[in-house]
Amino acid sequence: MQWGRLDIAGAFSRRRTAADSVVRDPATGAVVGYIPSMPAEAVEAAIEAAHNAFAEWSAVASPKRARLLRRLSQLIGDHTDDLAELLTAEQGKPLAEARAEIGSAAAYFDFFADEARRLNGEIIASSRADSRILVSHKPIGVVAAITPWNFPASMVARKVAPAIAAGCPVILKPAPQTPLSALAMAVLARQAGLPDGVLQVVTGDAASIGTLLTHDPRIGFLSFTGSTATGRLLYAQCAGTIKKLGLELGGHASFIVLPDADLDKAAAAAAAAKFRNSGQTCVCPNRFFVHEAVYAGFLERFLAHVDRLVPGDGRDPKSTLAPLIDEPALAKVERHVADAIARGAQLTRGGRRAAIGGTWYEATVLEGVDQTMLVSCEETFGPVAAISSFTDPDDVRAMVNASSYGLAGYIWGRDIATLLKTAESLDLGMVGINAVHLGMEMAPIGGVKQSGLGREGGHAGILEYCEQQYLLVGV
Ligand code: NAP
Repeated sequence: MQWGRLDIAGAFSRRRTAADSVVRDPATGAVVGYIPSMPAEAVEAAIEAAHNAFAEWSAVASPKRARLLRRLSQLIGDHTDDLAELLTAEQGKPLAEARAEIGSAAAYFDFFADEARRLNGEIIASSRADSRILVSHKPIGVVAAITPWNFPASMVARKVAPAIAAGCPVILKPAPQTPLSALAMAVLARQAGLPDGVLQVVTGDAASIGTLLTHDPRIGFLSFTGSTATGRLLYAQCAGTIKKLGLELGGHASFIVLPDADLDKAAAAAAAAKFRNSGQTCVCPNRFFVHEAVYAGFLERFLAHVDRLVPGDGRDPKSTLAPLIDEPALAKVERHVADAIARGAQLTRGGRRAAIGGTWYEATVLEGVDQTMLVSCEETFGPVAAISSFTDPDDVRAMVNASSYGLAGYIWGRDIATLLKTAESLDLGMVGINAVHLGMEMAPIGGVKQSGLGREGGHAGILEYCEQQYLLVGV
C-alpha cells in the first residue's frame, strides 16, 4: 500500500486475505487499508525474532543506538505531511492536530536518542571498607507494546523510543482502528537502519495476541495504553510470568477554576483541553468545578469558544471538531448525556448527534452536574463538558480524590501558595497549574490508582525498560 511517499506494505510480506480487517476513515467510512489477522504462529515467530535480536541490539554501543533513533526522528519529521494525512484518514482528528501529534512522535524519538546515552549507573558508599557497591541499568528484555487508537503515532513513540533506546526489541500491537500510523513508523524505522527483529508490528485478534505476549517468558515487559478494564486483564495475565508492566490507563480529569483565576485564559485552555480530538484523550477534562464567584464569567467565555467549534472532515482546514472513532463511542456519549439530563442536569449546548451526520457529536455543555451522574464517575471520551459550581475548595478536593481514576487534573488561579497546596492535595499523577499541555517528551506521564503504573517520558521513561543490577565488589 502506498501513502504519499510511504510504502506501508513494506511492513508486511503477505497479500490481503478474507480474514484481513478493514481500516476505515471515521469521517467518510471509506476504506483506508487492510490489515492482516496474523495467526498464532506468526506472533510466535515475531517473539522468537525479537528474542534473537535482543543479545545483539542490547550490545550495540549507545552512541549508535542514539544515531539510529535520531535518524528515525528526522525521517518522521521529513514525512510529516504524509504521516499526518494518514493519521487523519484513519483516526479522524483535524489535520492540524495530526501534524502536532507527528511532531510529538518525532520529539520522543529525538529525546530518547539522547537518553540512550544517559543510562548512567551509580557507586554507592559501602558500609564496609573491603567492598564497593556498583549499580548499573541493564535492558529488561523483549518489550510487548499495546497501543490505543486515540493517538496512533505518539502513543507508539512513547513506548518504542525509550524501549529501543534502552536496548530492548519491541513487538508492537496497535489498535485495529488505527494500525497504519504504527506500520508507517515501522517502515521508517527500517529505513533509519534499525536491524531486523528490533521493531515488529503484529496485528489481529487482540485477545489471542495478548494471551501469547503476556504468557511468554521471553517477553520481559508489557507496556500497555488503553482502558482500565483491559489493563486490569493484562495485569492478571502477566502474573504467571511475573512480568513487569507499564500501564497507562483511563483518566477522568477535573478542571478546577479558583475565584482568582484569569478567566479569559482559563476558558480558552478549558475549551482546548476538552475538545481536542473531540474529547477522546486520556487527559481530557471530564468534570469542571468552577467557584461560584466566577461561575457566570467563566461560563460565558467558555461558551464563546464552544460556539466557534466546527465539526467537519479533518482535511478541511475549517474543521475543529473531530468525529468520534466509531458507533460504540457515540453511543457511550449519548448514554452519558441522557443519564445526566435524566438526573437533573441542564443542557446548555449541544446534546445530540451533529447535523453533519456520521459519528460526529455536537460540542455539549451540561450544567448543574452532580456526582451521581455517569459523567461524574466514568470517562465520557467525547465532546461533553460537565460543569458544576462550588463554594468550598475542600469539597472539590474530596470529589476529585473520591474517583478511582488518578491520571490528570487542572487548576486555574493566581495565588501560587493556594495553587501548589491544592495540586499537592490531589491524588493525581499529573496536575496542570494554569497550563494544559501535559504531554511533553521530557516529562513523566502517568497516573496513580486505577489510571496506571509507571511513567512514560523523561528519564523515568527509559528507566522503566531497565533492571538495576547491583554488583558487590570485594577489594
Ligand atoms: P482498549 O479497548 O483497552 O484498547 C487498547 C488496546 O488494547 C487496543 O489495541 C486493543 O485492541 C487492545 N486490547 C483489547 N483487549 C485486549 C486483550 N484482551 N489483550 C490484548 N490487547 C487487548 O482502549 P481504547 O478504547 O482503545 O482506548 C481508550 C482508552 O485508553 C481510554 O480509557 C483512555 O483513557 C486510555 N488512554 C490512556 C492514556 C494514558 O496515557 N493514560 C493514553 C491514551 C489513552 P482491540 O481494539 O483489537 O481489542
